[in-house]
Amino acid sequence: MPIGGHKQQPVVHELESAIVEGVELTADWNRQLESRVILDYDTTNLFALAELTDAESIEWCYGCGKCVPVCPVDVVGEYGPRKIHRKAQTGFDLLNDPDLWLCTTCGNCLRVCPKEVDMIKIMPAAREAAMAKGNPVPAELQGVFESTFKQGNALGQSARKRAAWTKGAGVPVRQLPKEPGPVEYLFYVEDYWSYHPRGHDAAQACARVFHQLGIDYGILGHEEKTLGDSQRLAGEKGLFEMLVEQVVETLDKYEFKQIVTPDPHGFNALKTVYPKYGHTYDVLHYTQLLAPLVDQLKWTRELDYTVTFHDPCYLGRHHGEYDAPRTLLMAIPGLKLTEMMRCRENGYCCGGGGGGMWLDSHTQNHTTERLSERRVKEAAESGADVLAVCCPYEVSRFEDACKSTNLDGQLRVMDIAELLDEALGGIDAVAPTEDAA
Ligand code: SF4
Ligand code: SF4
Repeated sequence: MPIGGHKQQPVVHELESAIVEGVELTADWNRQLESRVILDYDTTNLFALAELTDAESIEWCYGCGKCVPVCPVDVVGEYGPRKIHRKAQTGFDLLNDPDLWLCTTCGNCLRVCPKEVDMIKIMPAAREAAMAKGNPVPAELQGVFESTFKQGNALGQSARKRAAWTKGAGVPVRQLPKEPGPVEYLFYVEDYWSYHPRGHDAAQACARVFHQLGIDYGILGHEEKTLGDSQRLAGEKGLFEMLVEQVVETLDKYEFKQIVTPDPHGFNALKTVYPKYGHTYDVLHYTQLLAPLVDQLKWTRELDYTVTFHDPCYLGRHHGEYDAPRTLLMAIPGLKLTEMMRCRENGYCCGGGGGGMWLDSHTQNHTTERLSERRVKEAAESGADVLAVCCPYEVSRFEDACKSTNLDGQLRVMDIAELLDEALGGIDAVAPTEDAA
């Protein structure tokens, strides 16, 4: 009981042994006889991490464990904010550990965390701090930072090849640097649709769909550079800020009403990060542009496919857009849509977010299998013969995963734009243009 503002210490009667109801008890079991050490860890690293700007929420964890079963990395390894927090409490230095590069910033832990421990902020801050200290960065990621710095894209390709994909589209694609003037939509193609061969297929399919709908749009061609969101989340804030300046300078030259992009990472940058630097744009993902127009599409083929859809983390969980892609898929004649167990807000990450796109070798060394491999197994288990995607990272990621899991004969990976285009008749349905030659 408090006496005079101080708690009165209890009087402890210590006996070496006692007989209680005929049973002799020794005092050995009574831990009051010796003080227990309950904390002898060095918490310096935890508090240093929590002192970084944007990483303070790591300290708010109270160990409930809700985040661990939803973490896609924990499904194939040992991860999740609770585990990171507990290890940091016991002396582990996140800034100098392979764990630093495993989080994909998918956001599923933040969705369920009662304390709002925010790995989407913690991880970029920790990675930036690690790089500032000269701690090791996985070589594959370092290479992407250098390519982006030199060429303005993650694949290290020449700016002159940015618009090469338009050649095979079979329809005119207006390049604003060559044909300036106002357009309704600026189509921000981003890196993987611009340069990756499978990205070309989707970009060309999308151009044909836009053409059939009479959408007034243009691309930046050789003037386009990546919007840099994944590089930012991988810790290269300086590189990202350089890209913001360059991108904004280019966008300022052209007149458009809205930006439309196939890339959820670019979409996230324009929607939530560029405004923090004073640059606000009206931006749509391409599925959001097309979904309200779906009744205007003139189908020529039925697709006898059973399709399951993979929600991209940066379109679904980060921006709440689950319906536009499904609206498009369900409108395709003949197509049957089936859902995977993990879908919509609990969708499983492909492993490509937060820089994971360029960390597959690193991740593979610290997990039992790649996240993309786990995901294609889930897609096959759903009974689908097509895995539909709408993020430019995913076609190549999942096709590689299908090969390494021997599912490539069973499961095809297609962008929604490719499925729409196929049901509209594909390149055969459009009149040849000079560009297609
Ligand atoms: S859900 Fe939040 S509070 Fe609970 S263990 Fe995970 S990080 Fe900690
Ligand atoms: S953001 Fe995703 S990958 Fe990172 S710790 Fe949270 S659930 Fe795991």
